[in-house]
Amino acid sequence: MSRIFNFSAGPATLPLEVLEEAQRELTDYQGSGMSIMEMSHRGKHYDAVHQEALLNFRELLQVPESHEILFLQGGATTQFCQVPMNLRGEGQVADYINSGSWSKKAIGEAKAFGKVNVAADCGSEIPTRQARQEELQLSEGAAYLHCCSNETISGAQIMEFPKIEAPLVCDMSSDILSRSLNVSDFGLIYAGAQKNLGPSGVALVIIDKELALRAPETVPSMLRYQTHIEKQSLYNTPPTFGVYILCLVSRWLKEQGGLSAIQEVNERKALKLYDAIDASDFYSGTALPEFRSRMNVTFRLPSEELEKQFVSEAAALGMDGLKGHRSVGGIRASIYNAFPEAGVEALVSFMKDFAAKA
Ligand SMILES: *Cc1c(COP(=O)(O)O)cnc(C)c1O
Repeated sequence: MSRIFNFSAGPATLPLEVLEEAQRELTDYQGSGMSIMEMSHRGKHYDAVHQEALLNFRELLQVPESHEILFLQGGATTQFCQVPMNLRGEGQVADYINSGSWSKKAIGEAKAFGKVNVAADCGSEIPTRQARQEELQLSEGAAYLHCCSNETISGAQIMEFPKIEAPLVCDMSSDILSRSLNVSDFGLIYAGAQKNLGPSGVALVIIDKELALRAPETVPSMLRYQTHIEKQSLYNTPPTFGVYILCLVSRWLKEQGGLSAIQEVNERKALKLYDAIDASDFYSGTALPEFRSRMNVTFRLPSEELEKQFVSEAAALGMDGLKGHRSVGGIRASIYNAFPEAGVEALVSFMKDFAAKA
């Protein structure tokens, strides 16, 4: 066994148990004589996986009957255009919070073919942060308000979601299933799978069924939420292997005790790293303390030279993926659900050693 501690921001580490199970079943899925990715998506084996995944996510997130769960393709990035295409009416404005790189991308797409109001803009501030309720400048009759619950690059996470009249739409790509959530507060939630759910390519979408009916007739079938609601995400061939891994991850999460249990572990893991940052003058956190992400812990060292050295020495010790995103630099430790606590402890111990000798 030569697994290392993989701090990559995404695609990211998956539970070892899940990988091992997929490996055991890879060439002969439950006596079918073939792999799950070689069989019909309309057959009984795949259908059971698809239905179980839907059921497990419904249970884990306590998704109410008013909302549908979808497995779509094109990652979270396709949602950047699919959301405004479906939810914003002719001439209507959509409110967006700019809290960093990912929300900025969502705003760019929405602006390309309709009206956008940036309701708060803290996306370029350092220390990084999320917007506060009192600074929101909402438009009257907005189609929705879009936010990003966890800015994966800057390491700033929403701790309290905005309370508004319009439907709330949230990009939860990097913190979905990491904590308890009240799904009925949201009109639409979406997440690319490769951080907390499984392999890249699948997007999990949870949508209030009423909202899906808003889509103008010009939206093509594949990009229309209603199409996938009516066909339970089996309108065309879904990303079957991806959904299968999502199913295994959902089982794993249930075994961990569900969202409140994993939230506790996530908070503990993050706190260990933030304590190590705060315990020395050598490290400084990138995000304002009240918005510090439990998924992507971002920090700086006194110089870029030292940051480079930090990343390469950590890699030599089996800790990979610590280099911050190319747009902001610094260090980023991504510690999603499946990232082991032992890896956090290894990093904390390395941080102490590194600071002491630098
Ligand atoms: C990774 C990420 C995305 C992009 O996901 P893709 O699957 O590559 O399209 C969007 N939003 C956030 C918050 C992310 O972390």
